[in-house]
Amino acid sequence: MNTPYRNASIAARDLAVVWHPCTQMKDHERLPMIPIARGQGVWLYDFDGQRYLDGISSWWVNLFGHANPRINAAVREQLEQLEQVMLAGFTHEPVLTLSERLVHILPAGLTRCFYADNGSAAVEVAVKMSFHYWQNVGRPHKRRFITLSNSYHGETLGALAVGDVELYKKVYQPLLMDVITVSSPDCFLREPGCSWEEHSRRMFAAMEQALAEHADDVAAVIVEPLVQCAGSMRMYHPLYLSLLREACDRHGVHLIADEIAVGFGRSGTMFACEQAGIRPDFICLSKGLTGGYLPLSVVVTTETVYQAFYDDYTRLTAFLHSHSYTGNPLACAAALATLAIFEQDRVIERNRILARRMGAATAELAGHPHVAEVRQTGMILAIETVRDKASGGIYDWRERRGLRAYEYALAQGALLRPIGNVIYMMPPYVIEPEQIDWLAGVARGAVDAACA
Ligand SMILES: *Cc1c(COP(=O)(O)O)cnc(C)c1O
Repeated sequence: MNTPYRNASIAARDLAVVWHPCTQMKDHERLPMIPIARGQGVWLYDFDGQRYLDGISSWWVNLFGHANPRINAAVREQLEQLEQVMLAGFTHEPVLTLSERLVHILPAGLTRCFYADNGSAAVEVAVKMSFHYWQNVGRPHKRRFITLSNSYHGETLGALAVGDVELYKKVYQPLLMDVITVSSPDCFLREPGCSWEEHSRRMFAAMEQALAEHADDVAAVIVEPLVQCAGSMRMYHPLYLSLLREACDRHGVHLIADEIAVGFGRSGTMFACEQAGIRPDFICLSKGLTGGYLPLSVVVTTETVYQAFYDDYTRLTAFLHSHSYTGNPLACAAALATLAIFEQDRVIERNRILARRMGAATAELAGHPHVAEVRQTGMILAIETVRDKASGGIYDWRERRGLRAYEYALAQGALLRPIGNVIYMMPPYVIEPEQIDWLAGVARGAVDAACA
């Protein structure tokens, strides 16, 4: 079926009409666009018969491989029943079963599920809900948000405002609401000899201060629990989340946990918040929610928040927010099949073995002259490359060394898409231990290619 050299003709057609995400399109004057014909398990196949191991789970969404038979079957079955119905005034079996399942597996007390269709939209929902909650309970001055430096919460204007990745945000600054930014507990920046736990504790002082100073004006703190993924996979200790939960309670401020990237096993536990034993007031989920099949997101919140909106219509306290595809049945069916796989295959347990293998397979890279750190949280492993290890001198971003690593990996048959100078692995959970070893070898070569 795959006649050779079809890639080029398809790529040419593509570049005539498609504007790609997060891309300087001019790069494709040199960089080939890769048309993917099909996926199977961890592999993506192009039209010229090349295959690529999906080492970053297609932007962190895929959990159980491409064309997973169980998820395929679930979506197919749902397709025969109902493809879509509006969720206002109507409901359907997949959305209510999914909601029951989520409430069951999430930290106790998160009982109300509000759906949207992508991660940024979920962040918008959580931000609006928190703000609106305080309006409804007669605290209208609580309208600001506290966020961490180097955080990422999506691309729509509200989500961009509460994020802090300059590359994505700076140009739009005039359009964005003003937020309070507190230094991230990012443990890459800890002093030599300081543990992750101690660094995270020390960094909490700035958060405590911001809360003490602004609590009367602040609706919520929003964080990515344990890993700032788009912010170069920077990580911190669960202690920070425990301290944050306690302080938010003490100051009467909501806690929004954006687990869009780290949820569903990425952090090593089903949800990252579990590692701190906390329950946020809002949790945002997307990406792995459908196993990487279909766009769906959900914000799950507490009974307290829900009740603040529950009243006679004419009091105008309802949350009048909607998206056309909210709670799409096909996406919910994919999500249910995904949750079933977690249970049936004891995925979290198996992932512990895979995570150890990822660590072992990349351990020697820590000694590489251009590697400042190899860090890991669960199924996320990141390699921080530097120009000069002794001084910590970093590469100028204009050198685009990550791009060299990307091209090297593709030539080897692996999809690794570095963020700046950080090369990372975030594979589907169906990856085999031997494939992890192979991918680690590619990553090692990619480091050499980037730092040559
Ligand atoms: C990807 C991501 C988002 C945005 O989700 P989209 O579906 O891409 O809009 C928000 N927060 C975090 C932590 C993410 O990783």
